Amino acid sequence: MAEILTLGRYSLGVGDRFARQAPAQLRACMTAAEKGVEVIPVWNKSNREHVIIGSEPAGTRAAADAAVKALGWKRPYYVDADHIGLRTVDRFIPYADFYTIDVADWIGKPAAAAAIEAFIRRHAELVGKVAIPGIEEPFEISAPELRRIAGKYLLAVQEAGKVYRHVAGLKGEGKFITEVSLDETDSAQTPPEMLVILAALANEGIPVQTIAPKFTGRFNKGVDYVGEVGRFEREFNEDVAVVAYAVKQYGLPRTLKLSVHSGSDKFSLYGPIGRALKRHKAGVHLKTAGTTWLEEVIGLAEAGGDGLVLAKEINAGALEHVEELCAPYATVIDIDRRKLPPANVVQRWTNEQFVAALRHEPRNPAFNPHLRQLLHVGYKIAAQMGERYLEALRECEPSVSRNVTENLYARHLKPLFLT
Ligand SMILES: [Zn+2]
Repeated sequence: MAEILTLGRYSLGVGDRFARQAPAQLRACMTAAEKGVEVIPVWNKSNREHVIIGSEPAGTRAAADAAVKALGWKRPYYVDADHIGLRTVDRFIPYADFYTIDVADWIGKPAAAAAIEAFIRRHAELVGKVAIPGIEEPFEISAPELRRIAGKYLLAVQEAGKVYRHVAGLKGEGKFITEVSLDETDSAQTPPEMLVILAALANEGIPVQTIAPKFTGRFNKGVDYVGEVGRFEREFNEDVAVVAYAVKQYGLPRTLKLSVHSGSDKFSLYGPIGRALKRHKAGVHLKTAGTTWLEEVIGLAEAGGDGLVLAKEINAGALEHVEELCAPYATVIDIDRRKLPPANVVQRWTNEQFVAALRHEPRNPAFNPHLRQLLHVGYKIAAQMGERYLEALRECEPSVSRNVTENLYARHLKPLFLT
């Protein structure tokens, strides 16, 4: 494959709903760099977020560029057109140099029978025992199993090829980072499935550098992992080994690594992920987004005064529109509505009470994960406040940016990459 733009070993996806936190986010990566660990920032925003907020990809690019310039960041950085497809990608083309091709909707829809046959003929090496360095037990993939996996994923991979070639035609090959995401679907991909998917991506000629599978367990927005950590750790280690094997076996880019979506706030997984990276000398892309928006609300509340008033108003609005706000995120949140404090109770909270309920400190008895998930999806309420919300962000800037940086550095980068 020709020379391509490459992504560093460790990278952090950051989301900035209102395009005001890029400097505070970049400061987290700068702190990591000062401590000797390079983590490349990638500003990601999905078409879904742009539509809900009424923002444009140009704004994400402008905010990232301005932050990099103002803080003197000399290392690479990227802007990710997150979760795009053929229908949504075009508006990102002038501004994004990282494309997350989301093909989850094509999973389970069968490709043409001839394409499946051709794939099976081409990949006889995938049938039987497949020994993968770093995995003790060889995978055993039977012929019917390979046919089943190809039947489930080949169409999705073909779609990824279409989107990749569309973007490459407009931007030029090698001028952007390609991610393929499979995470927004019902069932997790097993490591043997990952191997087959990577072989198929290589056939399509996609220089994929990050791949986002759906892992076992629940990756709810803004809260910790729900599932068996031991099982996740085994699966993650196997996936990392599969990625390294597929790079060699199928000639995929050497920089290929896993991307963890809804990677924010998964505190119980950073230890296992960090250990796997060390063991396999591998990299990872940790994709976060809404965790930064939650820090904006925390920063507003912490500032007290008008900031606190606004934070309470956002909560009240979110409670009123809970149905509508949760709908687009149904597969990635678990809110028990009986555990949401009523608006009139929150109304009487001090700034400390509000912050304690929202800030992600699982051991704090006042922390409320239901409130946190509700506010996670509640950014539309702030978007509807328009200039009033942005004005509050300006007024409360010191406490907002302090919380944004601290959250990304101390609760994410440090436990994952620096310990
Ligand atoms: Zn995702």
